[in-house]
Amino acid sequence: MMSDALLEVVDLKKHFPIKMGFFRSIISRKALVVHAVDGISFSIKKGEIFGLAGESGSGKTTTGRVLLKLTEPTSGKIVFDGKDVTSLNGRDFKKYRRRMQIVFQDPFESINPRMLIRSIIEEPLLIQGFVGKEMEEKVYKVMEDVQLAPPEQFLTRYPHELSGGQRQRVATARALVLGPEFIVADEPVSMLDVSIRAEILNLMIDLREKYNVSFLYITHDLALSRHMCDRIAVMYLGKMMEMGDVKNVVLEPLHPYTRALIEAVPVPDPTSTRIEVNVKGEIPSPVFPPSGCRFHTRCPSYIGDVCRTKEPAFKEVQKEHFVACHLY
Ligand code: SF4
Repeated sequence: MMSDALLEVVDLKKHFPIKMGFFRSIISRKALVVHAVDGISFSIKKGEIFGLAGESGSGKTTTGRVLLKLTEPTSGKIVFDGKDVTSLNGRDFKKYRRRMQIVFQDPFESINPRMLIRSIIEEPLLIQGFVGKEMEEKVYKVMEDVQLAPPEQFLTRYPHELSGGQRQRVATARALVLGPEFIVADEPVSMLDVSIRAEILNLMIDLREKYNVSFLYITHDLALSRHMCDRIAVMYLGKMMEMGDVKNVVLEPLHPYTRALIEAVPVPDPTSTRIEVNVKGEIPSPVFPPSGCRFHTRCPSYIGDVCRTKEPAFKEVQKEHFVACHLY
């Protein structure tokens, strides 16, 4: 673990039990679970933008939600600023929640369409006990920082009166207004028009400087992440496949899955974040993940029984460049 880490995640797992019908439960006594996140470890440094990449179903969004305790982990450890927050709940976690925020893919997940922009941004401040002039100053400052300026032009409008990019700026302002140290940005631009994606990503890079905030940037687009992230990890079926400096991982990928992901093409549907990875077959069910290496059923570099039967260790094969593959 790094000494300058803001967040440390150790062997984190999140399994969702599946509700079984009566007959199914008679046939199979063993409870079925979705292995959404299945033992991942990583750290995020202060002020770092750390990318988490993978296809739909890789576990990246669940990871982001578990870190913010929007859903409880099954096991593992989450250490934030030196404090183990894994089993904190309710009131005890509230003060950490103020320091850890999320920007969703769809701004409507965090902003109420029936509230005025002013109320949307003020709400987290009111919950934390801010009122009057101090609250007003914070709202104006954050709106200017996310370039919703002049604020007067936006305060009395509703979300539907804004463009998609402006709504994502409102969601970002709401996440930032309490001065968090860590933000999970879950595919924050994937629902936006291609022409404004760069603007929002550049805004996040600026905010990192201005607020010294660390980001977990969740994405399916490795090419875009190169301009955004310092380091990146690639997930497949709940496991880490590769992790390292973004330039090494994106320009000189070692893992066969990372290579496939880099060559992936987005599905031509603006409302979808699905990508077509150019390897055989579909991503297997996380209920019955493959034995050995999870990628072995699709891997173009499959080297035999060892891939099918033995799980590869996630090991450092170059300085700070980790790979889980028997080729290394
Ligand atoms: Fe492919 Fe084997 Fe490496 Fe898995 S361990 S990625 S199956 S070569």
